[in-house]
Amino acid sequence: MTSPTSPAEADVLIIGAGLAGLVAACELTDAGRRVLLLDQEPEQNLGGQAFWSFGGLLLVDSPEQRRLGIRDSYELAWQDWLGTAGFDREEDHWPRRWAEAYVQFAAGEKRSWLRRRGIRFFPVVGWAERGGYGALGPGNSVPRFHVTWGTGPAVVAPFVERVRDAARRGLLTFKFRHRVSELLVQGGAVVGAGGEVLAPSEAERGQPTSREVVGDFTFRAQAVIVTAGGIGANHELVRQNWPARLGEPPRRLLSGVPAHVDGRMLGITERAGGRIINPDRMWHYTEGIANWAPIWPQHGIRILPGPSSLWLDARGRRLPGPLYPGFDTLGTLQHLMHTGYDYSWFVLTQKIIRKEFALSGSEQNPDLTNKSVLQTFGRVRGGVPGPVASFMQHGADFVVRESLPALVEGMNALAGGEPLIELAALEREIRARDAQLTNPFGKDGQITAIRGARAYLGDRLIRTAPPHRLLDPAAGPLIAVRLNILTRKTLGGLQTDLSSRVLGADGQPVPGLYAAGEVAGFGGGGMHGYRALEGTFLGGCIFSGRAAGRAAAGAS
Ligand SMILES: Cc1cc2nc3c(=O)[nH]c(=O)nc-3n(C[C@H](O)[C@H](O)[C@H](O)COP(=O)(O)OP(=O)(O)OC[C@H]3O[C@@H](n4cnc5c(N)ncnc54)[C@H](O)[C@@H]3O)c2cc1C
Repeated sequence: MTSPTSPAEADVLIIGAGLAGLVAACELTDAGRRVLLLDQEPEQNLGGQAFWSFGGLLLVDSPEQRRLGIRDSYELAWQDWLGTAGFDREEDHWPRRWAEAYVQFAAGEKRSWLRRRGIRFFPVVGWAERGGYGALGPGNSVPRFHVTWGTGPAVVAPFVERVRDAARRGLLTFKFRHRVSELLVQGGAVVGAGGEVLAPSEAERGQPTSREVVGDFTFRAQAVIVTAGGIGANHELVRQNWPARLGEPPRRLLSGVPAHVDGRMLGITERAGGRIINPDRMWHYTEGIANWAPIWPQHGIRILPGPSSLWLDARGRRLPGPLYPGFDTLGTLQHLMHTGYDYSWFVLTQKIIRKEFALSGSEQNPDLTNKSVLQTFGRVRGGVPGPVASFMQHGADFVVRESLPALVEGMNALAGGEPLIELAALEREIRARDAQLTNPFGKDGQITAIRGARAYLGDRLIRTAPPHRLLDPAAGPLIAVRLNILTRKTLGGLQTDLSSRVLGADGQPVPGLYAAGEVAGFGGGGMHGYRALEGTFLGGCIFSGRAAGRAAAGAS
């Protein structure tokens, strides 16, 4: 064993100081192992994507759910997961086993494990991916999206604290601005990593940093854990992996992730013997808006919508049921990519935006991120949240008008001047929709869904506006939002067994090599299958990072 002051060697190298890497590092240093934690970004970026996240975590049968009258169970969640994942490939063997273990974790020790680390939850549980097809189809039967009090930064903080403490105790050495370009292989085993030292950077967290090389490095260790994230900022890779079933790749993509989510480590690990599976499974959003105050290149923000906005394609045609806001992300993407356009529209009222627009990301939710009870209470009182109001004022994708003709004119102007949306057809659609509100029952699937959502206390309180006529001047002004495709999560990745050991083409573990978090498809090489129930990614980093840390500690 080498001395902790000799950073050229350690028991374990971890490549990537995002959430998965941090959790693995905590497990290893708790077990007394010496760790080198490498990241291509500077220290101010510690925590990677998770810092920017909304901090939504899927929990099953939690006290928060029970207090709101939600009855949930492991069996129901597992049924929902299977209906959502749609596992249908031979290589889904490990992903499916990871999924099962993960749902057990979410229904079991996840909440208490996180609480022991100081993580707390906002009391109103959100309902993401509502499905809408049938009980065995995709989507959450019940609300399960638990937002961390303090959002992403509060998810990361306990692990950063422990890793820093391990560094003080000499068990862990940070190596920022160290970009890995090669895994060292000897006799079929991974024994270290090499790459370039990048020039120091003062860039603010999340901003792109220079790739100027000022040196190189080689570190050896008994085990290497790859926790380098997905491919979301590398649009070339996204397009390359785009599956034919989703139509042509979008011409215009916004980035829902910082530039460091570049996917390079996937190819590098493959060259060292690791196998990548399910690269065509990705989780991109269809409700992206260009950030008027961007932090990273092509920075897009995802709207987390309540169910009431009218969703139209680029030509103004209403999307078919159940493609309502927040129901089926992948189904909507698939539908849109066959319309010939890579954007769509929400049409809504001021009354809807007040209650139903949340923006994903820690910086877009200062009330929750700053743990301000007073500000957070504003969500119950209503009123357009500050960050949403700023987008309405400055955002390139918003049109706000007092009348439908003026709105349509604004939408067509924003789309480049071609009159793709026809006023008469849209007016007919909206008037017919509004007329369905005359009775407390009717045939419009979306209105039925809105009424169903409001049967849940949490939705009625803060997420779903009372059904009303879109053309009611008292609910106005009218708002149209142009929605772009936003890259976010990589669902496939390095194939791993339940100990996070990377498997090779022959299905056997590559000695010395582990992977966790997004680079491993959050476990197994794709535990979500084709679709996600949401709030499963941070938890996936924690669960797989913990498994990798424990296994590498046992082996090194
Ligand atoms: C705005 C936003 C909102 C989100 N909201 C949620 C949510 O509410 N719930 C949820 O479950 N998930 C959410 N997510 C997703 C979740 O945050 C990420 O999937 C997760 O944090 C990924 O963590 P990771 O550790 O696998 O990778 P990352 O956070 O990407 O970290 C990987 C690290 O590896 C480093 N690295 C990469 N390649 C190299 C290399 N060659 N050499 C050295 N270092 C390298 C990178 O610099 C980076 O620091 C959100 C994400 C974003 C961006």
